Amino acid sequence: MSDCIFCKIVQGEIPSKIHYEDDNVMAFEDINSQSPIHLLIIPKKHIPSMVDVTEEDRKEIIPEIFKAIQKLSEELNFNNEGYRIVNNCGDHGGQTVKHLHFHLLAGRQMTWPPG
Ligand code: AMP
Ligand code: ZN
Repeated sequence: MSDCIFCKIVQGEIPSKIHYEDDNVMAFEDINSQSPIHLLIIPKKHIPSMVDVTEEDRKEIIPEIFKAIQKLSEELNFNNEGYRIVNNCGDHGGQTVKHLHFHLLAGRQMTWPPG
């Protein structure tokens, strides 16, 4: 989508610090980091939010996203300490960028409940 900031990151039109990339998935650093490690894992194809995920996406893209998360947690070595995965969906979820993404937060003690 032409006016989507994450599509522009996928296209290389906006710079990002990429930690993982394959044909369908990308992981890059959040520009406004909330923890020592804060990555965003996204499908390269434009899916606005979890509401828009199709059955095909559930078979193809979503498992690839979670594979990438596990791979990153091993490579960046925070498996033992643990981490948090967040998906903000829609207005009540606090989603600000309307391209599906999962926050991967690690490197500090998280608290609950979130705000
Ligand atoms: P959400 O509020 O769940 O939609 O999260 C959107 C996230 O995208 C926020 O944590 C922003 O800091 C992050 N973000 C916005 N623009 C960029 C960018 N150009 N590069 C990296 N992260 C970004
Ligand atoms: Zn997009």
